[in-house]
Amino acid sequence: MAFHSGFVSILGRPNAGKSTLLNALVGEKLAIISPKPQTTRNRILGIIHVPSGRAKRGGQVVLIDTPGVHKPDSSLGRKMMVEVSEALEGSNVILLIADVMQKSAPADQFVLDMAKRSGTPIFLILNKIDRIEKGKLLPIIEQWRKLHEFKEIIPISALKKNGLDVLLERLLEALPQGPKYFPEDQLTDQPTRFMAAEIIREQLLLGTKEEVPYSTTVIVDQFEEGLRLTRIAATIYCEREGQKRILIGKGGQMLKKVGTTARIQIEKMIGTKVFLELFVKVTPGWRNSRQFVEGLDWRRQLEELAGDRHGNFKPARS
Ligand code: GDP
Ligand code: MG
Repeated sequence: MAFHSGFVSILGRPNAGKSTLLNALVGEKLAIISPKPQTTRNRILGIIHVPSGRAKRGGQVVLIDTPGVHKPDSSLGRKMMVEVSEALEGSNVILLIADVMQKSAPADQFVLDMAKRSGTPIFLILNKIDRIEKGKLLPIIEQWRKLHEFKEIIPISALKKNGLDVLLERLLEALPQGPKYFPEDQLTDQPTRFMAAEIIREQLLLGTKEEVPYSTTVIVDQFEEGLRLTRIAATIYCEREGQKRILIGKGGQMLKKVGTTARIQIEKMIGTKVFLELFVKVTPGWRNSRQFVEGLDWRRQLEELAGDRHGNFKPARS
């Protein structure tokens, strides 16, 4: 049977469950998750390899998780929306993911308009059906149907992994015949160095409240992989002295807890012991500094690390 492949971007409001869906479909934790909106700040590639079997179509789905669509009020927010637009460019299918528990609002219309403008076929994915009574689903589907002629409407629970087989099958049907864009052992284009920074940021998101999670970012300054030990030093940036005190905690407790939990997860990901050092630094207003925000982009960081010679870290698109 013919091999089908292509690029599929996951689009939706903050907290709809986009990153949970990416992780569930790929079967690995590639994107960090939190109950707080705007957890995802850059686009994240996840590659699904589907072996062909008897009467089963084989193929490769290159998923792109994106930051939640919102009206940006900072350089960081604007950069996040650029990440969304770049994901939509060149996508074969858009998965518009909506939370069934959330009343469809102008925000959904805004996301839908964005998807429609791209001219790409749209699958409507109604997520979190584990939280709703069965009878309530049909009226919601009807409501959405009035807004657009979706290529497919598929109810799922990304968390409980319900409906994902159907989703994958329909996706492969919708994708054109195409090449294997990535080798079979590759699941993402993110370097481990950057994933380590995200794992640390996830712990900060889970452990802090109010403005602190949004004012925080992480940059890995040192990443030395050895056979048995990987040495990592990272700086946590925040915007105010008060936030720094919270991030460090009484007697350094908070930082210690974040460091320990993150280290264990990073060890699992890399497969070696990890020595993790964390620093906290105050950089007032970094979210509004275009230059600082651009510097957070791992693609940019890689360019700087490698020098101009191997500057472009791009997945091989044949
Ligand atoms: P994103 O902002 O769209 O990437 O959303 P996340 O994937 O970070 O998820 C936001 C929150 O919704 C997290 O607390 C998830 O655990 C939760 N969530 C995601 N999918 C589901 C689902 O299918 N059912 C339920 N009950 N919760 C979900
Ligand atoms: Mg996300």
